[in-house]
Amino acid sequence: MGICGKDLIKDGWFSERGALWPGQAMSLQVTDVLYSGRSAFQDLLVFTNPTYGTVLVLDGVIQVTTRDEFAYQEMIAHLPLFAHPAPVDVLVIGGGDGGVLREVLKHPSVARAVLVEIDAAVVEASKRYLPALAAGFDDPRVEVVIADGAAYMADHVDAYDVIITDSSDPIGPAEVLFQPPFYAAMARSLRAGGLACCQGECMWLHLDLIRPLLSACRRLFPTVGYAYTAVPTYPSGQIGFVICAKDAGVDLATPRRAPSAAVQGRLRYYSPPVHAAAFVLPEFARRAVEEG
Ligand code: SAM
Repeated sequence: MGICGKDLIKDGWFSERGALWPGQAMSLQVTDVLYSGRSAFQDLLVFTNPTYGTVLVLDGVIQVTTRDEFAYQEMIAHLPLFAHPAPVDVLVIGGGDGGVLREVLKHPSVARAVLVEIDAAVVEASKRYLPALAAGFDDPRVEVVIADGAAYMADHVDAYDVIITDSSDPIGPAEVLFQPPFYAAMARSLRAGGLACCQGECMWLHLDLIRPLLSACRRLFPTVGYAYTAVPTYPSGQIGFVICAKDAGVDLATPRRAPSAAVQGRLRYYSPPVHAAAFVLPEFARRAVEEG
């Protein structure tokens, strides 16, 4: 039967517990439950909280809140996009809430942004309850494909300048998105000069997962890096990104372009100095990530 998000609300508080963060729980007060239901793939819960606004939960795990979502969406999108000189075709895997897509569309060079999400129910819930995230779905450059991201990628070779994998955790439908065959397919789908950026879990909790992921990427890509951002409502308040370049010798930490003044004015987390800083890891993580 699986998790029912609504059952995780007790005495007006939602508690997020999970096998990937044993012994800790994030609790958020619930003002209103806006939606609770099950799709073919997962349990969906949408509620409001006095500090974090509207909260989307999938299979009992917080995915976005309207208060802090920009810290994640801007970084997972703009780190690879500004490390590319002129991205034209961009693929987003997962990301059904639309937040990453919204950020991709801020790049004037982007002519086509394809979003491949396995669960149409997430897209529908976002359009209804998270309009600020779903803002890009009607843009003429956008194509939404409801499919498994791993299967889609296998059929699209040499097709994208940037691929962003905005996946949920590696339990449930997103498990395939953390496997080496998925990274190999990503390498094939990228054009020369292309970059990929994937949700890379948390350095406080998941170094044992991050290390083999990076080793697999190093076998497939000549340039691999790890960066992070701070998101209060993610486990331990922090989440990382695995960034890979198809070319050798790419300096991932140095943006190839700066946002225009107009675009920078619409960004709340990303800036060129924040881009560079995101790759500077605390010693315990740097050692684990660089020395394996
Ligand atoms: N930012 C969030 C986080 O890190 O918690 C994740 C965003 S959430 C919108 C991730 C999305 O990935 C979900 O909507 C889920 O349905 C989708 N997803 C999971 N497995 C997938 C797969 N195999 N192919 C495509 N999308 C997938």
